[in-house]
Amino acid sequence: MIYKVIAKDNFRKFIDVLVRENLSYGPRQVDTDAHGEPVYQYKEVSSADEIAFDYTRTASSAKHLLMPFREEMSHFSFRDDGDWDQDISYNAEPRVLIGLRPCDISAINILDDVLLNGKFPSPYYLARRKNTFIIGMDHLPLPDCFCKSLNHHTVSTGFNLFCSDIGDSYYLSVNSSKAYSYLQEFSITDPTDEDNCKLIERRKLIKHSFQTEVEVTGLPSFLDIEFDSPIWQKWGDRCLNCGTCAMVCPTCYCYDVKEEPDLDLRGASRQKQLYSCNIVDFARVAGGHNFRPGNGDRLKYRYYHHYRGFAENANQQICVGCNRCGTACLSDINPKDVINDLRMEKESCITCVLPSPPRT
Ligand code: SF4
Ligand code: SF4
Repeated sequence: MIYKVIAKDNFRKFIDVLVRENLSYGPRQVDTDAHGEPVYQYKEVSSADEIAFDYTRTASSAKHLLMPFREEMSHFSFRDDGDWDQDISYNAEPRVLIGLRPCDISAINILDDVLLNGKFPSPYYLARRKNTFIIGMDHLPLPDCFCKSLNHHTVSTGFNLFCSDIGDSYYLSVNSSKAYSYLQEFSITDPTDEDNCKLIERRKLIKHSFQTEVEVTGLPSFLDIEFDSPIWQKWGDRCLNCGTCAMVCPTCYCYDVKEEPDLDLRGASRQKQLYSCNIVDFARVAGGHNFRPGNGDRLKYRYYHHYRGFAENANQQICVGCNRCGTACLSDINPKDVINDLRMEKESCITCVLPSPPRT
């Protein structure tokens, strides 16, 4: 890693050149919510002026730029001689993602663990990921951000360039030779002692600005104990099974695969589409049996995947604490309240010297 400093007006010129020469995506205001607050999304940008550098949080994560909601995996076509051909394409145009927050970059690192470094790497994901240049930016947390509880309020890998706001300048963490060579023409300087002090102050300010905390210490084993807690049914009763939480989540990666025949019936397209474990038929198998017929079961398994199973297998929890799921949920279901409810239920159990409900 190399550290440099760039004045904000020079940084803007650098971004302007970068986005004019490359397919680029950055945060843009796309709407306002019911309270009149701006709604941001990562959208294609063609100049620095189009980027909302002071954005808060995008409603959906940058996941969709690496894992589109729907994509064609292959296309089959029947030949006149009775045989058939299959086309598979993994091509991805090089592109730049600008303004990702530390938790969003951590989320991409987690997706990398599953989709690049796992037992079954995805060539579709690999093609996009290897052709993506990531520029991260720090920010002051929103009132409901809890990424610090999961240690994702800072990030040290997974980006090409990371910008920390130190007033009139950005303190740059340069993590790739490509980023360094791009920056050469834009008056970067070595950090002075004063810049280093400003960076430390900035990090302290971010660290002490969190208003939401979720106690995740020992959560995997706690979830084991609470497998049969009535809390799952309580929150499941509120769930609408809409799957929105998984769509906006930067680390939910489950998908469904289906085939759509061409209209002339001479071929078919195999497509993968993001899916959610909260949707009613997620665990339905051939023959019609549904392994998770109840709302509470499905909600529980989403939490188990995020806070227990992945932690056991990969030594980390999959949630990065962005609270996009809580913001998007029409039933006001969010990780902080569900986890706190579980913990409180256990504590009241201990206080009353009552055992947890038996496993069935
Ligand atoms: S967004 Fe809320 S209501 Fe919809 S599936 Fe997720 S938890 Fe259930
Ligand atoms: S807070 Fe919700 S949306 Fe964000 S990473 Fe965790 S589970 Fe996903």
